[in-house]
Amino acid sequence: MKNKIFIKTFGCQMNKYDSNRIYHSIKKIGFKKTEDLESANCYILNTCHIRDKAKEKVYHEIGRIKKVYKNKTKPIVVVAGCVAQAENQEMLKREPYIDIVIGPQSYHKINDLIENFVSKKQKEETEFDTISKFDYFDKIENDSNKISSLLTIQEGCDKFCHFCVVPFTRGPECSRTFHQIIIEAENLIKNGAKEITLLGQNVNAYSYKENSKEYRLSDLINHLEKYSELERIRYTTSHPRDMNEDLIDCYSSSKKLMPFVHLPIQSGSNKILQLMNRKHTVETYIEIYKRLKKINPEIEFSSDFIISYPGETDDDFNDTLNLVKKIRFINSFSYIFSPRPGTNAAKLELIDKEISKERLLQIQEHLFNHQLKMNKSLINNSIDVLVENKIDGQSKLFGRNKYMNSVIFEGDVKNIGKILKVKIDKVNQNSLFGKFEKKDNKRAA
Ligand code: SF4
Repeated sequence: MKNKIFIKTFGCQMNKYDSNRIYHSIKKIGFKKTEDLESANCYILNTCHIRDKAKEKVYHEIGRIKKVYKNKTKPIVVVAGCVAQAENQEMLKREPYIDIVIGPQSYHKINDLIENFVSKKQKEETEFDTISKFDYFDKIENDSNKISSLLTIQEGCDKFCHFCVVPFTRGPECSRTFHQIIIEAENLIKNGAKEITLLGQNVNAYSYKENSKEYRLSDLINHLEKYSELERIRYTTSHPRDMNEDLIDCYSSSKKLMPFVHLPIQSGSNKILQLMNRKHTVETYIEIYKRLKKINPEIEFSSDFIISYPGETDDDFNDTLNLVKKIRFINSFSYIFSPRPGTNAAKLELIDKEISKERLLQIQEHLFNHQLKMNKSLINNSIDVLVENKIDGQSKLFGRNKYMNSVIFEGDVKNIGKILKVKIDKVNQNSLFGKFEKKDNKRAA
């Protein structure tokens, strides 16, 4: 029988990147990727612990898989990602259908685990072993031909916000070597990448020291700038405390760094930021915003907001609302606080559900209205779009503008990988629709 692997990914870009890595590793032991679930004899669920009820979603998904394979030979079932890291042995006890549990720090060991499982030796690997993992990255063949590619440069977090599981599931901040990252970037560019997004849970905390020189995120951006085939550079997710001078300077020195900053603030109240252990204030955030806007008024900010964090009063919430009105964030995420087991905030008293829902509605209304207004302002304008792919079953192409908005338009597949001028004629809150005008010969804006 041919070995086929089906990978389902929950969560953020780092998880998507990891799924790709897992695949590139596992194909070395003879597995091929399939999109047809029923034909797979290895099923990998790459999990995310950020959203509510993450653990239950995993068991629900395993229940679904059981039904799919009811009258067939069971696949090897692997649970990877942050839920696997947090739950480890518990998962194997609660759901015997799961064969292997592997945490993000151990992906370099996945081939051994699967081979060992086949010979019934080992089922769980959630030790923190970050250095080995990064060392192994270099040895994985990278044949991705994605126009917009992801590249992990840093993992883990030392900040310990009281609501967050990342420091527990991904371990302490750890940066890959500068040299490794550049090799991987060159491979991605050679394979057609026109845009690279540098990833990390605290990406702007990137710090790698060699021969008494410290390499930072700004050094990576400045280095990537030199590759003529690369059109766009992005990074995510960053922390306000690590928005240092050198990174801010990149917004004037780099022509390829996109003018879109995803910088989570979480709350507009200093009292709540302190309760969250965020280690920054509203004032320092606004200062960063002003400085970047001064460098380039086209820079737009996106953020994450936790609504109804324990202790949030009406006044605290109004501070957040006022901040949203002032900064006019785009492409942002907002959700009601929900406790994560093992975190400091897990045992705090929750705010009334109805009050929380009302607050969320208010904040989302402002965020959505502003987003729509901004999208509408693009109607009849020509914007630069990096074309990523053809939409399945349609003659339309999909790409993104500089602010990461989806742009859909009629076009020829030969334009995939190019930056086109697209005239926008219709919008909704999430997407822009238009017509291709001409190829832009200038650098992407
Ligand atoms: S800085 Fe981000 S990743 Fe780190 S603990 Fe806070 S929310 Fe989690």
